[in-house]
Amino acid sequence: MESELARRDLQLEAAEAASVAKSEFLTRMSHELRTPLNSVLAFAQLLRMEDLTPEQADCVDHILTASRHVLDLTEEVLDIARIESGHLELSMTSVPALEVTSEAVELTRPLAERTGVSLHIEIDPEPVLRVRADRQRLLQVLLNLLSNAVKYNQPGGRVVVTCDDAGSDRARLVVADTGGGIRPEDLWRVFEPFDRLGAELSAVEGTGVGLSLSRELTQSMGGRLDFESVPGRGSTFFVELDSTTSNGEEGEEKA
Ligand code: ADP
Repeated sequence: MESELARRDLQLEAAEAASVAKSEFLTRMSHELRTPLNSVLAFAQLLRMEDLTPEQADCVDHILTASRHVLDLTEEVLDIARIESGHLELSMTSVPALEVTSEAVELTRPLAERTGVSLHIEIDPEPVLRVRADRQRLLQVLLNLLSNAVKYNQPGGRVVVTCDDAGSDRARLVVADTGGGIRPEDLWRVFEPFDRLGAELSAVEGTGVGLSLSRELTQSMGGRLDFESVPGRGSTFFVELDSTTSNGEEGEEKA
C-alpha cells in the first residue's frame, strides 16, 4: 500500500515537472518568435509604402497577413502559458462596463465596416454598471467575442452588445450576432484550442485559440464565458463577472 502511494507521488511529481517544462518552453518560444516577427512586420509595412506594381503589392500583403497571423498566435500561446504556469498578472479593479464595451466596439468597427456588419451597444448609461475585472484583459475578451461576431456573420448582419443582471451580484455582458450559428454537434468543440470547426477551409482568418484563451482569462478573473447558438439564426456569447459598486483599485493579483 505504502509503495503504491509512493509510486503515485512520483508520477504526480513527474507530471507536474513536465507541465512546468512545457509552459517554460512555450513562454521562451513565444518570446523568441516575437522579436523577429515584429521586424518582419515593420519592414513589410515600410515596403508597402513604396511605389509597387500590383503584383508586388499583393506579395507584400501576403507577408503582412501571414506575419500578423503568426504574431497573434504567438501572443495567444504566450498568454496560455502564463495562465498555465500561474504567471498571469491581473490588475483587478472596478471597471465601468459601458466604457470598456464602447472601446471594444470602436476598435472592432473597421473590421465590421469592411464586411458590411453593423455594431450596436444597448447598455443604459445610468446607473453606471461596474464589473470586477482586469480592464485590459476584459477588453481583450470582448474584442475576441466582437471580432468573432463580425467574422462569422453575413453581409448586412448585426451585432448587438447588451448587459444583463445575472443575479447574485453578477453582471453579464452579452454579444449577439446574426451569423450562421454553430451546429449542435459542434458545440463541444468551440472552446477546444486550435479547433476552428471547419472555418480553416473558408477565407475567414483566425487561429482557433481566441475563445479558449478568452474563457481561461475570464475564469482567472472569477468569471464565466459561455454561449448559445441557433444554426441559421446566430450566436450569443456572454461574459459573466461580479458586479461592483465601488470604483476603487483592488490591487494586483495572480491567476
Ligand atoms: P478563430 O481564431 O478561428 O476565430 P476562436 O477560438 O475565436 O477561433 O473560435 C473558435 C471557432 O468557433 C471559430 O473558428 C468558429 O468556427 C467558431 N465561432 C466562434 N465564434 C463564432 C460565432 N460568433 N459564430 C459562429 N461561429 C463562431
